[in-house]
Amino acid sequence: MRYLVISDIHANLEAFETVMAEAKTIGYDKVLLLGDLVGYGADPNAICEKVRELKPDALIRGNHDKVGSGVESPEGFNAVARSAIKWTYETLTKENREWLAGLPAGPMIVDDTIEICHGTPFDEDAYVFDDLDALRAMHAARRPLCLFGHTHVQVGHYLSRDQFGLATADDQRPLGIPLDAANRYLVNPGSVGQPRDGDPRAGFGIVDIDAREMTIYRVEYPIAQAQARIIEEGLPDVLAQRLALGR
Ligand code: ZN
Repeated sequence: MRYLVISDIHANLEAFETVMAEAKTIGYDKVLLLGDLVGYGADPNAICEKVRELKPDALIRGNHDKVGSGVESPEGFNAVARSAIKWTYETLTKENREWLAGLPAGPMIVDDTIEICHGTPFDEDAYVFDDLDALRAMHAARRPLCLFGHTHVQVGHYLSRDQFGLATADDQRPLGIPLDAANRYLVNPGSVGQPRDGDPRAGFGIVDIDAREMTIYRVEYPIAQAQARIIEEGLPDVLAQRLALGR
């Protein structure tokens, strides 16, 4: 059984289609989606429709899905995020808005090995920024492999009986993370549509349950096209610029 793990698409159609094509070449059986389908990017309706067609086996909402569909107010958002999410709300069709509003909150148990969440297993909106956050999230997780998104940083942590460390110290991609049955893991597959770890390529992961390994990937996509769409829709220029920087 191989799970494709994707997160933080953020209405970036060019990145999403590239990731799906690449994943198809690599091969997977099921899809896990960790939230933030919309917000920032120029194609929220197309993403909602394509994700529905994809029929993910597990799908949870992100904070931008909540605000973009009107479930929550944009109170905690900065000015740029707020202007993009207002545009998203107004641009989404009624059908897509209602579908997004109905997405379940994480965390969600997938099987004996995997649990997914948007931010952390104890709070869907909390960020894992440092080791302490990561440890707290791992202790809250009910499965040995906890997959999360929200930070847009592709990173993995492990916890063994006497050690806590980085499972992604090597910056080569693709990178295989062997899943030792005695350890716990907390892995962010990276953001499909708006990476913020300095690498502008789209991120995703594949968990191979039988081989006991998770592999994280980066793939180049037509960034200039995604930027042109953002400008075309009148969204803030900075949202186009940051895609090229991966910030
Ligand atoms: Zn996000």
